[in-house]
Amino acid sequence: MSPHNSPLSSESVSIARELLRLIAQKPSLDAIAPTILQWIQHILLAEAAFLTVFEEPHVFHGLGIAEDAYVLGDDWWQKTLARMIAAEPVQEATPAPYNVLYPLWISLPLVVKGRSVGCLCLFYSKPIVLDAAQREWLVIVTDALLILTESAKTSARHEKLMRNQAEFVRILSHDLRTPLTSILGFASMLESGTMGDLNEKQRYFIEKIISGVAQMTSLVDNIQDAGRYDPETGFYQMERAPLDLNELAERIVQNQLVPAEKMDLELVFVPDPDVPIINADQRMLERSIINLVDNAIKYTPNGGKIEVRVSHTDEDVTITVRDNGLGISAENMRQLFQRHFRIRRPEHKKVKGSGLGLFIVRSVARQHDGEAFVESVEGQGSTFGLRLPLSGANLLGGDL
Ligand code: ADP
Repeated sequence: MSPHNSPLSSESVSIARELLRLIAQKPSLDAIAPTILQWIQHILLAEAAFLTVFEEPHVFHGLGIAEDAYVLGDDWWQKTLARMIAAEPVQEATPAPYNVLYPLWISLPLVVKGRSVGCLCLFYSKPIVLDAAQREWLVIVTDALLILTESAKTSARHEKLMRNQAEFVRILSHDLRTPLTSILGFASMLESGTMGDLNEKQRYFIEKIISGVAQMTSLVDNIQDAGRYDPETGFYQMERAPLDLNELAERIVQNQLVPAEKMDLELVFVPDPDVPIINADQRMLERSIINLVDNAIKYTPNGGKIEVRVSHTDEDVTITVRDNGLGISAENMRQLFQRHFRIRRPEHKKVKGSGLGLFIVRSVARQHDGEAFVESVEGQGSTFGLRLPLSGANLLGGDL
């Protein structure tokens, strides 16, 4: 069809193009509605107009008409518009009380999956005959509004689900932690022998209870921290403060000495005496280093050695956790940092885990503009680490 035969004038074509461009940017209906109403007024010569969506998220935008004029109620609209579904846009007598100023109107239902969820209404004081181009333009605008309404509904539903999920995780992990702490406290008292001597079998059972509770506690901690994430990006709200990595890593190593000893593992810490103080999220870095040390303990056979090291260059600080355990194949290394990824191997059959640990490590490194890494040779051991750049927001007083 040549441009001369097009039912749309070149102006309405360019506005339709602009409309498509706007939609591609996925704006909210609220943001785009005033512009659309102005175009409608201009091309369809409407004297007043409004656009409304009755269902959540509710939208009302009027041009030459205020929301308090919108008095017929959602039920009335839904019934009226349901009757009009699929009808051609027609000009008819405006219902009271709008008819005082504008006796004629064109109302178009916005229909999502067979349900009228809103409408676009154009008001006129005198009869108007819309030509083919104007009618076509009206159809284009209604389609555009439908796309925006649907996407607004989808993202509102998605946000609500995410809020519910985060709240559920927060309550669940918080409520689980309290009884776990008390089970661990009582079991440790029994193990210490202050309540009387234990025979071998009793000692064995108590050890099992303590290690089970420790596993559950670490799982709950991981779930709690994973709950702070945006699952699509793996990112979370940062809480930065000055942080001495030597101090943090040493404290973690001290706390892990007993579990390492139980597995007959040597655990050593090598500090960097000149490591600069960084501006970082202490809680999340602590969780990451604990995950790495915890993994080294879980996946290194008895008698092995684990070394936790802090080091730095002019460009970055690095925390590494090296073990001389089973090592990891090149193929598995590629997927290690993905959420819920676990390597299936007979030696790990009894080792419990959620596959969240390394996902968290990587997210924490990235949130600090750094990266998590692994080097490993199967059968010889692995080195996991986080490298954080000494620049930007990681510097004290750095850009936020
Ligand atoms: P989880 O330990 O809960 O399974 P992680 O995300 O921490 O989850 O680890 C993912 C997988 O990576 C583990 O299941 C394990 O197979 C492997 N892995 C992690 N650390 C080591 C390590 N130090 N040595 C060998 N394998 C490891």
